[in-house]
Amino acid sequence: MGVELAYTADVAQATRALYAKVAHVIPEIEWPVHAPLIAAINKLKREKNAVILGHNYMTPEIFHCVSDFVGDSLALAREAARTDAKVIVQAGVHFMAETSKILSPDKTVLIPDMRAGCSLAASITGADVRLLREKHPGLPVVTYVNTSADVKAESDVCCTSSNAVAVVEEIAREFGVDTVIMIPDQYLAQNVANQTGVKVITWAGACEVHERFTAQEIRDYRAAHPGIVVLAHPECPPEVVAEADFAGSTAALADYVSDKHPKRVIMITECSMSDNVAALHPETEFIRPCNLCPHMKRITLERILHSLQTMTTEVTVDPAVAVRAKKAIDRMLAVKTPIKKAA
Ligand code: SF4
Repeated sequence: MGVELAYTADVAQATRALYAKVAHVIPEIEWPVHAPLIAAINKLKREKNAVILGHNYMTPEIFHCVSDFVGDSLALAREAARTDAKVIVQAGVHFMAETSKILSPDKTVLIPDMRAGCSLAASITGADVRLLREKHPGLPVVTYVNTSADVKAESDVCCTSSNAVAVVEEIAREFGVDTVIMIPDQYLAQNVANQTGVKVITWAGACEVHERFTAQEIRDYRAAHPGIVVLAHPECPPEVVAEADFAGSTAALADYVSDKHPKRVIMITECSMSDNVAALHPETEFIRPCNLCPHMKRITLERILHSLQTMTTEVTVDPAVAVRAKKAIDRMLAVKTPIKKAA
C-alpha cells in the first residue's frame, strides 16, 4: 500500500527513543527489522485516529513500541470503554476484541489475526452455561473474561485474574450463597476458592500455557537458582501456585517486580511477560521458562500494520448478545483497579 519499509536514516531517527525502551531485551542487530514497521504503524495510527491496546503477552516490540495502552485484560477492557479514538486495534486475542466491541459498540474494533483464539474461550458455549444453571438452580455464574460474548451473556458477572477474589466474594454476598459457579478455568476457580470462604463449581477448561507448569518444575528452578523469587499466574494448577512466593494477575506480577525489585525472579506465565517486565527492570535477573501462547503470538507487527492499512478484520458482536454480555462486564468493572499507561 505504498508504505516505505526500509530502515532509512529517517526511520532510525524516528524510532531511536523507542529502541531505548527495549534495548535490554531486543538485540541492536534486530532493530532494523522492527523499526520500519513500528514507524509505519505509529504514523497510520495517527492518521486513522486509532489506538492499539497491547496485552502483557505481546512481544516487546509490540508492547513497548506501538501500544497506546498496555496491561492485563481488565486494564484493557477499561481503556476500551473510555477511549476517544475511533478505531481500536486489539493486540491480544479474540475474546478481548469482543469485549472491546461490547464496551465500545460505536467504534471499529480490529483484530490483526482472526485466528487468535484461546483454549479457555474454546472450552465452553452459552448452551453449556444454561445447562449448568439448570443443574445448579439459584447459584450465580461468575465467568472469566476469557470467554466468548455468548458465554458472557449467560453470566451474572465477569471477572479477570485481577479481581476474581473480590468479584466472587461480592456476588456470593449479594446472592446470599456459599457456593458459586465459576467458569471456565478450573484452576483459577480452585485458586480463588482457596483464597476465599466461597465454594466453587468449576468447568473443565484450562489455559494451554499455564496448565503445563508443574510443582516439580518450580522446585527444580529453586534448586538450580537459590534465592530466586517465584511469581505465578493463578491460571496455573493450585499445586504450582502453592510453590510460588506470590500469585497474581499479569498486572500484579509486574507490580511485584516494580515494588520489590527482587534480585532474581522467575515468572510462571507466558514468555513475553518476562521480556516486557525485564525491559523496564535491567537490575533484576529474569530466569525465563518459555511457554508461548500460540494465539497471542499470531499478533505481529506485520499483521498490525496490515490490519490498519486494510481496516481488517473487524470484530462484531450480535447487539442482542452484546447488551446481555455488557451487564456482566459492567458489574465486573464496578470493582476498581488502576489503569497502567504505556511507559
Ligand atoms: S495464555 Fe492461555 S488464557 Fe491467555 S490467550 Fe493464551 S491460551 Fe488463552
